[in-house]
Amino acid sequence: TLSPTLTFNDGNTIPQLGYGVWQVEDDVAEKVVRQAFEAGFRHIDTAKIYGNEAGVGRAIASSGLTPEQIFITTKLWNADQGYESTLAAFEESMDRLGLETLDLYLIHWMQPKQDKYVDTWKALIELQKRGRVKSIGVSNFTVDGLQRLIDETGVVPAIHQIELHPYFSQRELREFGASKGILTQAWSPLGQGGELLEDAAVAAIAAKHQATPAQVVIAWHLAIGNVVIPKSVTESRIRENYAALDVTLDAEDVEAINALDRTASGEGRIGPDPAVSD
Ligand code: NAD
Repeated sequence: TLSPTLTFNDGNTIPQLGYGVWQVEDDVAEKVVRQAFEAGFRHIDTAKIYGNEAGVGRAIASSGLTPEQIFITTKLWNADQGYESTLAAFEESMDRLGLETLDLYLIHWMQPKQDKYVDTWKALIELQKRGRVKSIGVSNFTVDGLQRLIDETGVVPAIHQIELHPYFSQRELREFGASKGILTQAWSPLGQGGELLEDAAVAAIAAKHQATPAQVVIAWHLAIGNVVIPKSVTESRIRENYAALDVTLDAEDVEAINALDRTASGEGRIGPDPAVSD
């Protein structure tokens, strides 16, 4: 099974299911990205700050896959925000990845106090004009921050990568994105593998589909239209997560998982809040 693709507002496409490598050492990244390719993944999510772009690059180089067959995302780190520094940081990432052209470049965090994200976005627009990157987007923004990028540049991000899992389902940002033509991409889609994968409601749906809890959660992301990038460094789980493509939830399952949201109680979020994180 190949992952379905979703289409960006710029006409390019992204495989809906990808593989993320946060907190994976460079050498391990080379090994597990190779395993992910073997499992069927064609979309890899890394970032400068993960320190494993070189390992991801080595896995790409030895994969036998062509650039057209794969989709690679990396991200601009906070300290590199600003127009000229973004252009320079991009080339350094590309050297580590060993790529001619990048599929997707993201501003990693909005950094509202630093307040350089509009100039940084202008640099991404320039990189796309020059053909160095096919699609450009952002991560960890607010509605106001997204609106400001659009108002000040006229260029709508292709995608917004945010913390999103059944306990923190980001309804407001998903709806805003949909209204503007911005795809939503879920980070920590499995809730980092904690309580969520033990949740009784998830377990019941897993039993019904003869699937695992992780597969059910990934299938939920796919069903609600998210791009999703689960991480694992265990080969059997990498394969298991990919096989979530074969799990199809019905409307009742999706509703039951939607009901797990903890946003209202303030207990859903695991990571930092982009609105206040600098
Ligand atoms: P995740 O939700 O993907 O959870 C990963 C953890 O879940 C694993 O370490 C493991 O403990 C467990 N797990 C994975 N598969 C499993 C399975 N089949 N069965 C049981 N347990 C399983 O968490 P994540 O790594 O935080 O997020 C995924 C990716 O999102 C990252 O690797 C990274 O690429 C991206 N990300 C981006 C940002 C950002 O700021 N843009 C932040 C965090 C993560």
